Amino acid sequence: AGGLYLVATPIGAARDITLRALDILGAADVLAAEDTRSLRKLMEIHGVALGQRPLIAYHDHNGARVRPRLIEALGAGKSVAYASEAGTPMVADPGFDLVRAAIEEGYPLVSAPGPSAAITALTLSGLPTDRFLFAGFLPGAAGQRKTALSELADAPATLVFYESPKRAAAMLRDAAEVLGADRQAALARELTKKFEEVLRGTLGELAAEIAGNPRKGEMVVLVDRAGKGTVNFDDVERALKAVIGDMSV
Ligand code: SAM
Repeated sequence: AGGLYLVATPIGAARDITLRALDILGAADVLAAEDTRSLRKLMEIHGVALGQRPLIAYHDHNGARVRPRLIEALGAGKSVAYASEAGTPMVADPGFDLVRAAIEEGYPLVSAPGPSAAITALTLSGLPTDRFLFAGFLPGAAGQRKTALSELADAPATLVFYESPKRAAAMLRDAAEVLGADRQAALARELTKKFEEVLRGTLGELAAEIAGNPRKGEMVVLVDRAGKGTVNFDDVERALKAVIGDMSV
């Protein structure tokens, strides 16, 4: 049936694609992808033939130019399947303006859900999952990054950040400074891939580990919510002494 189909693709392990996603990729009249090469490769791995169907590049740099063509196809009653380079479209990835345009024109919108690094990392982090705040990528400039972190400091939710390996050390250092070095955190990298690794500890510990022993690969940084930090025994001792002092009068 005609409409815009948002197709989630693997974040590493090629077999993480869903059967329904493969059906949609096999049947859509028009395919659009953030990265046509990676979608082509994924379809090849799973034996989904492209045939004579168009495979159109759609990303942040050409979206304004290419979007009318995709909307026109939808207008002609065609099915258009859109995939990001990896994971779920629009989660720190293009597709938002396309979805808005499809909604505004009243075309059917269908999601074929699947992997996303944020959710995968949450499940492995050991941090509470009842409430989480997806914060995407922080700004690259240190000043802006600290401001963005301080805006999130009191959010009553596990914080989930995407980060590049190049910036991880600086990001963890700033997070430890702004959010507190004692906060529990996790760094999950290369998820579903051969060198998958999850580091868990305080922000201070993770910052020191990554500064001393930088890691490569794609990564997600997660930080526990504020407010249930470790007990400060100096404060407890002071309070107890005050009470005991009162009693002995
Ligand atoms: N749309 C994707 C999703 O649903 O997760 C995210 C795309 S975003 C441009 C790329 C970022 O996602 C990476 O910089 C990294 O932070 C995270 N990411 C993607 N794949 C990952 C993986 N296999 N392991 C850890 N993080 C990953």
